[in-house]
Amino acid sequence: MIFDAHCDVLAKLWWNQHLSVQDSPNLHTTIDGMKQVGGKVQVFAIFVPEAVQAEQQFDVALEMIHLFKKHIISLPNVKWIQSQEDVLRLGKSEIGAMLSLEGCDAIGVHLVRLQTLFALGVRSVGLTWNYANAACDGILEPRGAGLSSLGKEIVRENNHYKVWTDVSHLSVRGFWDVIEESDFVVATHSNVYSLCSNPRNLRDDQIDALLKKKSVIGITFVPQFLTDKKEATVDDVLRHLDYICSRGGEYSVGFGSDFDGIDQTVVGLGKFKDYHNLINQLHKRYSADQVHRFLFSNFVQRLP
Ligand SMILES: [Zn+2]
Repeated sequence: MIFDAHCDVLAKLWWNQHLSVQDSPNLHTTIDGMKQVGGKVQVFAIFVPEAVQAEQQFDVALEMIHLFKKHIISLPNVKWIQSQEDVLRLGKSEIGAMLSLEGCDAIGVHLVRLQTLFALGVRSVGLTWNYANAACDGILEPRGAGLSSLGKEIVRENNHYKVWTDVSHLSVRGFWDVIEESDFVVATHSNVYSLCSNPRNLRDDQIDALLKKKSVIGITFVPQFLTDKKEATVDDVLRHLDYICSRGGEYSVGFGSDFDGIDQTVVGLGKFKDYHNLINQLHKRYSADQVHRFLFSNFVQRLP
């Protein structure tokens, strides 16, 4: 069984509502693709495109939740996940779908909008994407500021409602502020900086801090976050996993593919159904229990 902590299907669906999440060849992640390889739960990110004007951002977030209900939850055997219990209750042939918010731009400075998104089922919140907003700076923002007072309030609100705070994309200072404030911290789609020096990746001290918080790091299949070489392979994914395990992260590592949020893909891991190539390699290196933890239970156990 697979729990995948990040994909951008909703953004593609927002641009083109005719895409079938059941089986569109134009999507990396489809329900049929998940079924082929034991995909059990997919986290669907609400990522409002930067091109959307500030006043319209919240409406677009709501539109994406509408699309999630209309085009994903309505599919046969797809269930809405809002808690660990919901995952454990899934039947054998059922698939779970969970909502996350990637970047708080859509809430502006209004906590009531965040609370509204919780009421509508959002269970994971990233404070910002790569740049600055009212909550925090992203990793590509030169200023590199940490959490604003609003950002801290958002994390406290996440804690209160038992919602994950996602550190993927955050500035380094923002990361450490979240480590301080958050009770439910995760990195849904980030890799290891020591192995690939992309700023989006996590430094060793950040990895160690996440392990100490019993957090989970979702290894992501973004080629530029896996290797400095032209092409990334399944072996590169394994290198990042092995590295986190070597620092004691066997219980703190999972996967967050970023499928449908990327143009280039890993060789042999271009779509959800290709997870089987990764699973085959995992079984060569790790016990069945370990593979189950990486693919599924590490993230599920951290779900409130
Ligand atoms: Zn992302």
